[in-house]
Amino acid sequence: MFRHSLVLPRVARWLASAAALSVAAACATTPSSPEAAMQTPAATPSAATPGARPPIEVAVTFDDLPAHGPAIPGMSRMAVIESLNATLRKHQMPPAVGYVNGHHVESRPDEREVLKAWLAAGNQLGSHTWSHANLREVGLDAYLKDIDRNEPLLAELAGTADDGRAWKTFRYPYLQEGTDLPSRDTIRKHLFARGYRVAQVTIDFGDWAWNDAYARCVAAGNTKAQESLREGFRKTAVNFLRWADAAGQQATGHRMRHVLLLHAGAFQAQTLDALLTSYEKAGVRFITLDEALQDPAYAVDPGVGDTWGSSFLEQLIEGKRVPHPPFPLQPLDVLDAVCR
Ligand SMILES: [Zn+2]
Repeated sequence: MFRHSLVLPRVARWLASAAALSVAAACATTPSSPEAAMQTPAATPSAATPGARPPIEVAVTFDDLPAHGPAIPGMSRMAVIESLNATLRKHQMPPAVGYVNGHHVESRPDEREVLKAWLAAGNQLGSHTWSHANLREVGLDAYLKDIDRNEPLLAELAGTADDGRAWKTFRYPYLQEGTDLPSRDTIRKHLFARGYRVAQVTIDFGDWAWNDAYARCVAAGNTKAQESLREGFRKTAVNFLRWADAAGQQATGHRMRHVLLLHAGAFQAQTLDALLTSYEKAGVRFITLDEALQDPAYAVDPGVGDTWGSSFLEQLIEGKRVPHPPFPLQPLDVLDAVCR
């Protein structure tokens, strides 16, 4: 119910013609359309040469704690979080921020322990609204109440660390900042009045879309397809990193600090190690969300009213009408078809 299965981020809508591709082909780095092929990815770095240029700085965030996507037999929600924690520790990552929908804990009090385990590993929590509210469905007043309703749980768990400021970052469900400029501005004013900072996203490769496919392939016992999914996930993550690095420079005039969006699901637990390793090889230096948000790029208001599924970087491009490198492929149609 609270998955993003019906969300087609703008990038996905642009690339909705992937049905004929196999999972493997979908993960290729070739441009996704004839139009894309005609554009010159001149600003795309060759990567793999850390030291040759300054690192790409990336903060890592996870949405939908304590539970995202279908449960996988033999892998509890706690096992997912412990796996994510172990991988983050293995890579000596700075604290990651996990964005909480408190309603889970109301119906499953045991999942409070999942959030505690995340904090105990040195990571941080932020708000993702109580119910993963869809502004378009619930309306503005209910949306604002849904923000407030999440606060007692976060205050209880994250306590008074950093003078109570530590959990006061906000991640919009569906990256939906508003349905128009007035609703967007009302929500922003509400957040700022309550002391939140907006946890923007610049790298969103649709990681959520792999979880259903993975669950089906596990249920089918199709290990070959599972491996294809893992490899496709890793390659897509790297393609979107490179796109964001190049597009960010074109949109801001400097090598901006990035924020990666992942989700706290079973498939991410399986693939995080490979993703982080690939990012390290591509020249990434991991930073905290606090450090990322200090980039002046995030002080810019793109002025885009309807932001359903749009990352901050896409909003910057749209708001400033700047050119950008061709969008990489997000193989949603392929993921929807595999293991059926
Ligand atoms: Zn979410």
